[in-house]
Amino acid sequence: MADDDPIVCSRCFTDTGLRFDAERIGIDVPGACPNCGAEGFKKLPQAGLGALAHRYFVWGSMWRTRYGAAPLVEFNEHQKTSIELQPWLEQDVRLIERLLKVGFFHYGPRLWMLGEIEPLKALQRSRTRQSIVDRILGEYPERSFSSDESFYRVRVNPSAPGAPSHYDSPPPEHSGRGRLDVKGQPILYGSPDLEICIHECRVTAEDDVFVATLSPTKTLRLLDLSVLLKEGEGVTEFESLDITVHMLFLAGRHSYRLTRTIAEAARIAGFDGLIYPSYFSLLRLGKMPFQTVYGISQRCIEQLHEHEQAKTIPNLALFGRPVATGSVAVKCIDRLVISRVAYEFHFGPTGA
Ligand SMILES: [Zn+2]
Repeated sequence: MADDDPIVCSRCFTDTGLRFDAERIGIDVPGACPNCGAEGFKKLPQAGLGALAHRYFVWGSMWRTRYGAAPLVEFNEHQKTSIELQPWLEQDVRLIERLLKVGFFHYGPRLWMLGEIEPLKALQRSRTRQSIVDRILGEYPERSFSSDESFYRVRVNPSAPGAPSHYDSPPPEHSGRGRLDVKGQPILYGSPDLEICIHECRVTAEDDVFVATLSPTKTLRLLDLSVLLKEGEGVTEFESLDITVHMLFLAGRHSYRLTRTIAEAARIAGFDGLIYPSYFSLLRLGKMPFQTVYGISQRCIEQLHEHEQAKTIPNLALFGRPVATGSVAVKCIDRLVISRVAYEFHFGPTGA
């Protein structure tokens, strides 16, 4: 039997989630399923079944912590199944065990995946915070943003949709609520990725939505926090500034206190703004967070740097009110008609 010969089809599974995902991962191959004998369902070879098991049980059991996330379930050829199974998964797990010769077990994550990282912990303590902020400003690269580049800013229900000034940052009295702006210091948020802008604005079908295309009028100096920071040999995940910053921008509202401190330090240091990873990067690209190879972060593996970098979509934050001061110009404004909203989803076990 060749490696790419099908061994199961979507109908072999009883759980709805596994059936759906098998139908999506599987391929059209004529003939009867070698396992159940049915015809007309998508079929999976060995590797496809492995991908299905990973997507459902590993990615599907991903548990978010304050900073970081880790799967609760793993599987491999060395262990027997020791997780408790809901009755509707019993038969499917037995099938996967038999065909892949694997067992499913509770994953004991390496603690860095849950945010046990020295620079991240130091950033959260007020006594040591400044030293990490200084390192971030010193170690991340500066990037020029020139007048032949552009970015988007989306507004929902603006009072004067055609007025360029309505695409500037909000007036100072309204600042202090976002990921990077502190009270009295407005920030113009945008992105070169239009879909990310729409996501960030949490647009609904009832809204009147407009998008402005903006460009700098002179070269702006930005601190680029969206890059994968190459750290020296021997720097582990537990000491990594790169993973600290990466986790910080994938965290929710509780992280804003820290991200605002970094932004304010960059403003005081004379930067015109920041490039930072979008919170929605992974959702937009449909990627699993914090992927590892044998417990080592893929971000720490040189051969995977490019692959990892591609998982970050940059966002833009410009200090002050750059449209009003003339350092950024509105090139055009379009109405945005939301014609279809699609959700991509996959499944996972419900747990005990
Ligand atoms: Zn089948």
